[in-house]
Amino acid sequence: MALDLDISLRGPDAYALTRKAVDQMEQHQVWPTPLNYELWIHYVNSPESDLASEINTLVKKRQPITEAVSEDLAARYLTRNRLSEEIRDAGDQLSRELASVTEALEKAQETNAAYGRTLAGASKDLTIDQEPPALKRMVETLTAATKRVQRENSNLEQRLNASTDEVERLRENLEQVRRDAMTDGLTNLANRKSFDEGLLSACAKSEAQNQPVSLAVIDIDHFKRFNDTWGHQTGDQVLRYVASVIGRVGMKAPRLAARYGGEEFALIFPGETMDKVIPVLEEIREEIASRLLKRRSTDEDLGAVTISIGLAQREAGEGATLLVERADAALYASKRGGRNKLTTADASAVAA
Ligand code: GH3
Ligand code: MG
Ligand code: MG
Repeated sequence: MALDLDISLRGPDAYALTRKAVDQMEQHQVWPTPLNYELWIHYVNSPESDLASEINTLVKKRQPITEAVSEDLAARYLTRNRLSEEIRDAGDQLSRELASVTEALEKAQETNAAYGRTLAGASKDLTIDQEPPALKRMVETLTAATKRVQRENSNLEQRLNASTDEVERLRENLEQVRRDAMTDGLTNLANRKSFDEGLLSACAKSEAQNQPVSLAVIDIDHFKRFNDTWGHQTGDQVLRYVASVIGRVGMKAPRLAARYGGEEFALIFPGETMDKVIPVLEEIREEIASRLLKRRSTDEDLGAVTISIGLAQREAGEGATLLVERADAALYASKRGGRNKLTTADASAVAA
């Protein structure tokens, strides 16, 4: 098994490994772009890997490693994230489980077929003038066969029950992995990936059904100052607190609240106009501004934090990127206007 790349890149051979990767890139005439760099670092670090052997094949066939080829390699080999690994593991387990159930079923089928043959043989031998000892033997044979088949069937039943439990456990695991992959660890809100997907689908739906969708971006005011004064740990607690207020004040599905980046949040309101969501956002803003924070461990007063908000409603034909840009611009208008404000994308600040 190849040495873990993260370990290699922080180990004693890190620079040698990097130089080797750069040499290889030069030798094979590929530019040292970040993507190529990642590919060739993997190549030199794990020479036994499938990626390395595919590159070797290309080199042997004298095929140029164009950008398209690199992108294809990256798409197939570098998606080494936790989610796909765990899904692959769960998939492997599921395959093993199914193989073992199939085996048990086949065995039961064999036993049942043998039982059928025993019965058929017995009925053929059964004639009216059979002597009692012969009849006795026949009954004994049938009893033994019946017992065998009963035992097998009960084994199979147990096996199937265990398997149902196992499949259910795997299903729950996968569901948990899927949830984790979409959730921000610190705040438990949706993460950036989940936000990006949510916004794309909300925009597509809004376009298809001619329905409004509103987007709010929220940024904590002077958060750097807060961190510098009270420390990063306390800053993290504030992020959780702000997230909890956002989550609590009416962010039920289909609305989606996400941590967009460091101390920024984004809220999607499918099917809702700006007019409808302004009161929700104002409630969030006011609740956060009005609460005096205390550090639990030392009881120190931390003062209040405030947030600035930018709000935009999707216009006909507008894509997710532009909508985010307009909401962002409105957020910056709130910042410029003194912070602790909500600004809508088309107009002036609606609250101070
Ligand atoms: P502004 O009012 O203009 O938004 O000022 P600001 O200080 O909030 O903005 P700036 O972008 O300068 O700083 C953001 C700070 O947020 C910088 C960084 O230290 C902090 N931050 C980002 N992510 C985290 C995090 O996960 N935890 C903590 N504690 N702080 C974070
Ligand atoms: Mg910011
Ligand atoms: Mg900020």
